[in-house]
Amino acid sequence: MTDTTKIINCPACGKEMTKIFISGEGVNLDICLDGCGGIFFDNRELKKFDEQSENIEELKQAIQGKNFEKTDENLTRICPVCGTNMVKNSVSIKGNIIIDECYNCGAKFFDHGELNKMREEYPTEQDRRQALLSETYEEVGSKIDQLELQNNMNRAKRSKFLKMMDKLFY
Ligand SMILES: [Zn+2]
Ligand SMILES: [Zn+2]
Repeated sequence: MTDTTKIINCPACGKEMTKIFISGEGVNLDICLDGCGGIFFDNRELKKFDEQSENIEELKQAIQGKNFEKTDENLTRICPVCGTNMVKNSVSIKGNIIIDECYNCGAKFFDHGELNKMREEYPTEQDRRQALLSETYEEVGSKIDQLELQNNMNRAKRSKFLKMMDKLFY
């Protein structure tokens, strides 16, 4: 999908969003400069900005020193591109960052400050994925421990199971 030049309204506060051109990535981002400071990504844009090495200076400059309106992050938001209700989704284990995602067109909305929090937490997407994965292992691992008590599941079975999990995730 290509960059849309259409002006969109902020899904959180309803104000018109401002397009900021990010030269390093050659795309326009929609930012709610006159309202809540939220950032809207259409379906593939986020991949270009979720790692620390990726340059968002222009974005930082645009929002620097501004006071943004507070919004109620618990309200259901409506995707300004396709009109579908957006879904709350966690992008972080440690920081508890909940963003709004449109499952219909793939758009994502970050409230003010959330993108930075996400970028600071893990330097690369690889690190983030690793963290999510080890969390899953721990959860599955503790379930297996319980099973072991009940069924006396032996170590061989357990490692076989973890290998199977490996295959599922990689
Ligand atoms: Zn807004
Ligand atoms: Zn949408």
